[in-house]
Amino acid sequence: MSIRLYNTLTRRLDPLPEPPGPVRMYICGPTVNARAHIGNARPFVIGMWLRSWLRARGYEAVFVHNITDINDKIYEAAPGASAELAERVTQWYLEDTGAFGLGMPDHLPRASDTVPQIICFIEQLIERGYAYAVDGDVYFRVALDPGYGQLSGQRPDQVEEQEPNPLKEDPRDFALWKANKPDEDTWWESPWGRGRPGWHIECSVMAEELLGTEFEIHGGGLDLVFPHHENELAQSRALGHDFAHIWAHNGILRFTDEKMSKSLGNVVTTDVALEQSGRETLLLLFLGAHWRKPMDFSEDTLTQAAARGDRLREVFRNESEPAEAGAWDRFSGALDDDFNTPEALAVMHEWRDHDLLRRALAVFGLESLAESEEAPQELLQLAERRQDARSNGDFAEADRLRAEIGDAGWEVRDVPEGFRLVRK
Ligand SMILES: [Zn+2]
Repeated sequence: MSIRLYNTLTRRLDPLPEPPGPVRMYICGPTVNARAHIGNARPFVIGMWLRSWLRARGYEAVFVHNITDINDKIYEAAPGASAELAERVTQWYLEDTGAFGLGMPDHLPRASDTVPQIICFIEQLIERGYAYAVDGDVYFRVALDPGYGQLSGQRPDQVEEQEPNPLKEDPRDFALWKANKPDEDTWWESPWGRGRPGWHIECSVMAEELLGTEFEIHGGGLDLVFPHHENELAQSRALGHDFAHIWAHNGILRFTDEKMSKSLGNVVTTDVALEQSGRETLLLLFLGAHWRKPMDFSEDTLTQAAARGDRLREVFRNESEPAEAGAWDRFSGALDDDFNTPEALAVMHEWRDHDLLRRALAVFGLESLAESEEAPQELLQLAERRQDARSNGDFAEADRLRAEIGDAGWEVRDVPEGFRLVRK
């Protein structure tokens, strides 16, 4: 059976081709106007895991994740220095996502490197009658696309107005190219004068440049369905091809903790989240939520994720026990069926088989949980002294030593062959 994923466009589970595919995947990346918050990391993590699982299943998988470094938000955030801000925030994004230890996407294209191809794409749309220039802007004629609204589920006659401008033919039309404004400090020459591309066309062109005009998966946060992805689909179809087959939208991360938002502001940036909780706990938090569902980020959910990590580490501190027949198929079946990571995680929690569990953890970059940490030498000595004290009947001293070891973050466990030190 092949892998199935929920498709926003068809509103059902659609199959990927059989291995080896290929599976070509484009997931919208960040707009680099400010350091990314932990919610922005979700599409990255899901994309890296999906690629990892596809490869484990024998697919040739390619993951493109763009950097939107030309955008209104960047001009607003850094008047006169937008390119410098975009570059700094891009580096932060690469550092922050790199710190998850999952590797990196195959391609990380930047809009600013793609402008000549974008201009060429817009010229083709104008030639075909799908776009028109007015006063240095170029707009897409939404009325010519009978399928417009299909992705976001809006009726063609009730589509929300975008980018108000009295010069547009139709309020629904959206910008492909925007004339340079006095407060915008970067621009490119074009047949329509100085300006810069609109956001939606950037993604259509970067995707098609790297993956071809038709590819298997286009992803991004649920908040991108309209207008961003609706517009990408419209302009790419206007050039006479189908574009992405499966549209996969991940649920939004919610900051639901009032206590947390008081101390850290409304959002937690990825670097702060990584520093405070560590990569393993954050990955386990993501793993425990279905990719399409909203996910709560709070002290409670982080505590639960950390506890999952402890349970998994604990397995490797005990003897391995062979899993029952078909154990891997249950894990694999959960991931093949709409990439159900919470179900796969529930299956993993049942296992005491070290090899199998290590193999499953490796799919998600979590094989580090299998490395039980060695206790420091001085703690081993304290534990030996405690054992002597116990054999001599000095239980007060044994308790004192147990507490001292506990203060150092370790727990002494009595086992038949003596003791074992375990990280608390
Ligand atoms: Zn995009």
